[in-house]
Amino acid sequence: MNTLMRGCDEESLRLGAQLIKQGGLVAFPTETVYGLGGDGLNPHAVQAIYAAKGRPADNPLIEHIADYGMLELLVQTTPEPARRAMEAFWPGPLTCVLPATARVPRAVTAGLDTVAVRWPEHPVAQALILQAGVPVAAPSANASGRPSPTCAQDVWEDMEGRIPLILDGGPCRVGVESTVVAFSGERPMILRPGGITREALESLLGPVDVHQSALNALQEPSAAPSPGMRHRHYAPKAQVTVVRGPGALERMLAAYDACQAAGGVPWLLISEMARSRCGERRLMSYGEGAAQLAAHLFHSLRLIDAKGATHIYCLAVDPQGMGLAAMNRLLRAADFDVMDPQEEDGR
Ligand code: AMP
Ligand code: MG
Repeated sequence: MNTLMRGCDEESLRLGAQLIKQGGLVAFPTETVYGLGGDGLNPHAVQAIYAAKGRPADNPLIEHIADYGMLELLVQTTPEPARRAMEAFWPGPLTCVLPATARVPRAVTAGLDTVAVRWPEHPVAQALILQAGVPVAAPSANASGRPSPTCAQDVWEDMEGRIPLILDGGPCRVGVESTVVAFSGERPMILRPGGITREALESLLGPVDVHQSALNALQEPSAAPSPGMRHRHYAPKAQVTVVRGPGALERMLAAYDACQAAGGVPWLLISEMARSRCGERRLMSYGEGAAQLAAHLFHSLRLIDAKGATHIYCLAVDPQGMGLAAMNRLLRAADFDVMDPQEEDGR
């Protein structure tokens, strides 16, 4: 298949909307990451999304909407806390998991009786959904298992030849996916941390739980409340190691040097402030703080891969605010390979 890469002018948007109406797929920018969208009410289009990504069939998709009429098509009821969260954070990087109507194709929910819904903030995403006139089912536009794409070039790398159209809207502002929240229990529960922080949700709704899989490998994969947590995720080709605890920077530099001495090609993914302490070592800076790490993590992993790295070392950040989403993605990219002397003592 020939893949077109176009800007986000009116004509390209029209083409994109038409493709979606016809059951085709379009990669498009959102404020979180690029999505791979298809008609969210058409089971054939939904199947094509799984096929293009090589996505496991048990990992449900998010339905993207651009008005409340579309929400009504998809969900049976909206509990009070969910309604308040929507009013406060939509359009934006918040996904609500709610009871699904019969209109939602089974392939979207992977057989669950709930559906995940989000109203994105990005103007191109909104225009595409409104012009298509249907909810747009869209996972991240990467090949399954790879780091999510945060610019059109990243989408091209994974999807060229597999989909007809990529809309290039420049780099994504947030850089990690939406916060997925379930509203079925006594308290709202974050199933996957993302662009809306726990703190922001709590200031609106009171206490909000975070599923233990946010920062830990799943003990019992079959019990995952958000099925996407079961699978290897966000992984570059190089082996990623997260370094934390006392003396983390020194230990990271020692690990780098040992890797180099053993014939590997190590790289550091490092904050701007720490950069000057790394000498002549190969490194990429993500900027400063957790929000910048989140914004630049996926693209940095892809860039470092392209340099031929065998190992990537990155310091942990505090899992507060955007740090929770950044650490969730970083730990999964590392397949939970963590250097932490305090944890080793405790074993
Ligand atoms: P992605 O679109 O690639 O960001 O992945 C969508 C995420 O939403 C995955 O982690 C899914 O497990 C999660 N998700 C989608 N639908 C549901 C649902 N009905 N219940 C719980 N999690 C869901
Ligand atoms: Mg994804």
